[in-house]
Amino acid sequence: MSDHDFISGSKPIGIERGEGPYLYTADGTEYLDAGASFACTPLGHSHPAVVEAVQEQVGKLTFVDSSYPVQSREDAYAALVAATPDGLESAWFCNSGTEANEAALKFARSATGESKIIAATRSFHGRTMGSLAATWKDKYKEPFEPLAGDVEFVPYGDSEELAAAVDDGTAAVILEPIQGEGGINVPPAGYLETARELTDETGAALVFDEVQTGMGRTGEMWACQRAGVTPDVLTTAKGLGNGLPVGAVAVQDWIADGAASHNATFSGGPVVSAAVHATVSTLVEEEWPAHAAEMGDYLTAELEAALGDAVREVRGDGLLIGVELKRGANRVARDLAMDHQILALPAGRTVLRLLPPLVIDEAEADQLVDALTEIVAPEASAES
Ligand SMILES: *Cc1c(COP(=O)(O)O)cnc(C)c1O
Repeated sequence: MSDHDFISGSKPIGIERGEGPYLYTADGTEYLDAGASFACTPLGHSHPAVVEAVQEQVGKLTFVDSSYPVQSREDAYAALVAATPDGLESAWFCNSGTEANEAALKFARSATGESKIIAATRSFHGRTMGSLAATWKDKYKEPFEPLAGDVEFVPYGDSEELAAAVDDGTAAVILEPIQGEGGINVPPAGYLETARELTDETGAALVFDEVQTGMGRTGEMWACQRAGVTPDVLTTAKGLGNGLPVGAVAVQDWIADGAASHNATFSGGPVVSAAVHATVSTLVEEEWPAHAAEMGDYLTAELEAALGDAVREVRGDGLLIGVELKRGANRVARDLAMDHQILALPAGRTVLRLLPPLVIDEAEADQLVDALTEIVAPEASAES
């Protein structure tokens, strides 16, 4: 098996069922899902509250278009708007992260009447033409050019470069509060505040892509709350329906008021709405973000203590953790899976990305630390 096979969707592990942070093959082998299947299952796999809500809804009404009021959509809408930071008072549902960002950029353009979009190096915003244009990596873009948009890239985390780029012709500044795909990059303190000040001064929309950072992962419902900065537009998807395909864009009133027509057939369908309502209300009522903060501190401290100089850095916030290795991350991810039954994701060449479901406990965190120690710091592992 080559590394390429392992990352391209032909992993030699057939998953049949999931429960909590675990996935199981047909023969019952248990895998700890330390990537939460791309951060899509914050409550763990097949969480009963979500399963029940979806089963009930799919049997009652699978679909009706969004021009008819449906209780599950109204519940999802109310739960999401209540869970977003004050100031983001309306929301629009879609089907994925890229579609949420696509809408965010369109809303920003129509509300400001400007066209320039400022994005950051090492960003990832999705793979449709507009979101892709705001995504950094050439490998994702080159075969499909020309892309949609008038996008200028600035170095992520550099306030001065951002200040030099934002002007009166700027429609939007789009940033991940912590970059996920790009390697779990945490910006310096003050960077997101500066982005807020600059966009306030020029009238541009500040868009935070919380597709990966949101839904409680960093220890608050949204990573922007960790920094105390409210954007004009916040996008979410991945964990929003705990595994069902759904995204959303939450916006301030001035964006909603200026938004020209945009819609999608499946926007806020009854079944995904039932999943959103169950997921958001369970996260909030059972206070899983606080648990993520606690487990994130524990896991980060244990990783730092166990791995020491065998790795370059352990970074992130809450349960959004990147381990910068001194070797290729694909290989380490493969060894974790094949030798330790732990599933994790690479983020770039040398960063191993840990995004476990928020429901993991200390024993599961220890399992992860022990396995990673055995792979990257075998001497330390033999001593303990
Ligand atoms: C995954 C991701 C996206 C794209 O989401 P899709 O649902 O795959 O379209 C956008 N932004 C960020 C930060 C992501 O992590």
